[in-house]
Amino acid sequence: MNLEDIKGIGNTTIKYLNELGIYNTLDLINYYPFRYEIIENTDLNNLNDGDKIVVGGIIENVPNVVHFNRKLNKMSFHLNTGKFVTNITIFNRAFLKDKLNVGSSVTIIGKYDKKHNSITASDIKLGLIEETLIVPIYHSSFKISSSKISKIIRSVLGKVKTLDYIPKSITEKYRFIPKEKAIKIIHDPKNKTDLKKALARLKYEELFMFMLKISYLKNAKRKNDGLTRNVSYEEVLKVINNLPFELTKDQLKSVKDIYDDLISSYRMNRLLQGDVGSGKTVVSFIALYINYLAGYQGALMAPTEILAQQHFQNFQKLFPNINAILLTGKLKAKERKEVKALIESGKANIIIGTHALISEDITYSNLGLVITDEQHRFGVTQRGNLKNKGITPDILYMSATPIPRTYALTLYGDMDISSIRTMPNGRKPVKTYVKTNKEIKDVLYMMLDQIKANHQIYVIAPLIEESDKIDLEDVYKLEEKMQKAFGKICHVGIMHGKMSAKEKDEVMNEFKQNKIQILISTTVIEVGVDVANATMIVIFDSYRFGLSALHQLRGRVGRNDLDSYCILISDKETKRLEVLTKTTDGFKVSEEDFKLRGGGDIFGVRQSGDMNFKLADIKNDYDLLLKAKEDGENFMKSKEYNNPKYDFIKKQTIQSANLD
Ligand code: ADP
Ligand code: MG
Repeated sequence: MNLEDIKGIGNTTIKYLNELGIYNTLDLINYYPFRYEIIENTDLNNLNDGDKIVVGGIIENVPNVVHFNRKLNKMSFHLNTGKFVTNITIFNRAFLKDKLNVGSSVTIIGKYDKKHNSITASDIKLGLIEETLIVPIYHSSFKISSSKISKIIRSVLGKVKTLDYIPKSITEKYRFIPKEKAIKIIHDPKNKTDLKKALARLKYEELFMFMLKISYLKNAKRKNDGLTRNVSYEEVLKVINNLPFELTKDQLKSVKDIYDDLISSYRMNRLLQGDVGSGKTVVSFIALYINYLAGYQGALMAPTEILAQQHFQNFQKLFPNINAILLTGKLKAKERKEVKALIESGKANIIIGTHALISEDITYSNLGLVITDEQHRFGVTQRGNLKNKGITPDILYMSATPIPRTYALTLYGDMDISSIRTMPNGRKPVKTYVKTNKEIKDVLYMMLDQIKANHQIYVIAPLIEESDKIDLEDVYKLEEKMQKAFGKICHVGIMHGKMSAKEKDEVMNEFKQNKIQILISTTVIEVGVDVANATMIVIFDSYRFGLSALHQLRGRVGRNDLDSYCILISDKETKRLEVLTKTTDGFKVSEEDFKLRGGGDIFGVRQSGDMNFKLADIKNDYDLLLKAKEDGENFMKSKEYNNPKYDFIKKQTIQSANLD
């Protein structure tokens, strides 16, 4: 059906519709309202001056019409609402005069003026409204109004065929109403319940189609040249059951995701994300173990020496029978040579280290799996370097910087993601407070409580380190203060950027061994450092950091079942910092951070122009998006997907798939 076939519209109207991007009747019914005006009778018992009002009543007198000119007229009459009589004024409705007989009932929509007991009406409807009136509002132009668009759309409703993209099985699963009915309702809603159902149905379709495209793209990119591994899940469960703790549900799910990737011929390209302390490391160890069982070497790359060492020690503790070696830049020439030989010969099964892992001169024997911890700290080329050693290894990225959930799925749609959202059992949320410098005494008392309980404390000094230019005065002043307050009862240590790596390591180790109880640090303490006995972190000038960075710092504490505290000291931007006192969910924090700082630059991610939904809003409809994703992935494996109506997905996305 063409626009020309619609009764009562001429070429001019068609031109106006074209200007809105509407060229045929299908476009027309797909032109969804962007909002609805809900009209309900106002409660007349507590009216205030200036209130927007919807009121029904009886016309008391013959309307009086004044014509100012050809384009402007004013009509007024008295309306009896049953509670009171009020004066109604409305512009440019003179043409209605004949219908507004004395004694007939009308509904007035307008603004109430209490002082003059009058209503300036913006609209008038013949008859009373019994229930709620829902008026769809369309994006319109100067030339064609929303109500005109509405009228045209209503005239074709039920006459235009649309394709229903939601497969039958899914329609049944969610008890969706048929698409045609949904379209009819959104353009001509009779009640809120129906409208809700119709919007849900159409919104789901949008998300479903979007996720189909993303999944298609991901599959197109997924390489089938990965390693397959002959490892049974029973063997994996055996090692899981031997762990000193029970894995959380999300950890188990992540292990299963990774296991599935590793045994299949797809090359793994997975992001494992979860808050600091959520237990990603043990998941990565199990991945290394699966890979080891299949006879391949595995490498785990950490961003710092301390972390590499920590991982190495922990790995050895959990898997004492596997040949693991540590490779860092610290090794002496002779040691390095030995380590190199072990890697090259394949005698070393697990190699844990820093970016020394990707040095030019390291050759692997049969590297099957590469894991990078805190992947955001590595440059793309570095990662590439490692990837190219050996066979085409599977890759697992770990990140403690949660990508806002709404963006992860869409922006990283071509990467598989496993998320650990729940903290290990017994973890208590870190109690977070914002304090000003004036309240420092309170803070010192809180610190004292922790020291008395034999716990340890991190203090982040009020200083920005700019490589060479660092003024240590403030740090030493702070140390002096801390010594004065606590020197008699505990040891205060200090760590700053002017110290050599070796000195830093020493201090860090002393802290780990509880030889130091208060550690003052100028820099952000190494990501991932795990000192379970540290129960408090005090961050001076915390306004200097983004919320996600502060959240990361906060993650240094709360690593056991003790009460832990994070004190944010700041005289500025305290409102922003308050966000952290309200949530300990890193995913939520990153979302707030995203909202506050806006734009994609935080994550350095691509923007997707594909995300302009008509009804859906990925921020609020995330759960629905997840469902659509899962449904979409299952659907792509079904026969129904071969229906030609889905061909356009492949056509639309083929271009972006070739970008790599
Ligand atoms: P992440 O790498 O995600 O920051 P870690 O793997 O370092 O977290 O885990 C933090 C601490 O929690 C470690 O000491 C680890 O042994 C412990 N842990 C991990 N998973 C569990 C669990 N399911 N139950 C109890 N403790 C756990
Ligand atoms: Mg970690």
